Amino acid sequence: CGIVGVLGQHEAAPILVEALKRLEYRGYDSAGIATVNDGTLGRRRAVGKLVNLSDLLVHDPLRGKSGIGHTRWATHGAPSVGNAHPHKAGPVAVVHNGIVENYRELRAELADHGIGFETETDTETVALMAEHLLKSGLSPVEAAYQTIDRLQGAFALAFLFDGQDDLIVAARKGSPLAIGHGDGEMFVGSDAIALAPLTDRITYLEEGDRAVLTRTSLEIRTEAGELANREIRKIKLDH
Ligand code: GLU
Repeated sequence: CGIVGVLGQHEAAPILVEALKRLEYRGYDSAGIATVNDGTLGRRRAVGKLVNLSDLLVHDPLRGKSGIGHTRWATHGAPSVGNAHPHKAGPVAVVHNGIVENYRELRAELADHGIGFETETDTETVALMAEHLLKSGLSPVEAAYQTIDRLQGAFALAFLFDGQDDLIVAARKGSPLAIGHGDGEMFVGSDAIALAPLTDRITYLEEGDRAVLTRTSLEIRTEAGELANREIRKIKLDH
């Protein structure tokens, strides 16, 4: 129900949890984060309040300055650790708001390739499709973009990849998504409020947009794949 992401200069885990707290008002049943540390993708997930995730992170820390986070409001699959986001398939981690309407069709297609499922969610198909496309030789960005092209429904998405600690791919269709510009840092959030303590320079993705984020660059394309120019707005928010 809420998405956050950071390519930062500081440890990402506490920043992600803090940003998720600012999205608590939306409601959620579970939460999780994934980070890339020294090139390695790791994740932690917990059912219930964000404090449960914070507790888990105290006992079992997750290092790394790049990461994505999620608060889930289950639509497909019970609220459980296994169904909580980020979903991971091999080197890909995904957080998702909304519903992938054609997930059954995607599942059938993946099953034809001998790919099995571990969760009851619609979201897992997104991670598995991206992994499948990576294995076929596509770059992380291309694998994410071609996965996004296959999705029907309403969604906001953020992808993080093993071995890539300066890359997040994000997309928006039917669910809002804001990109925050820092100094040598880049952020993503379901809304600008999530990013308020981090930056007041915001680019809102438009319907169908997808974006490639690094710490120092933001490239946005339309659904048709054309480069898009989206302004950076200086927003005013009460912290
Ligand atoms: N449909 C996804 C799920 O049930 C995402 C729900 C959400 O927006 O939090 O896992």
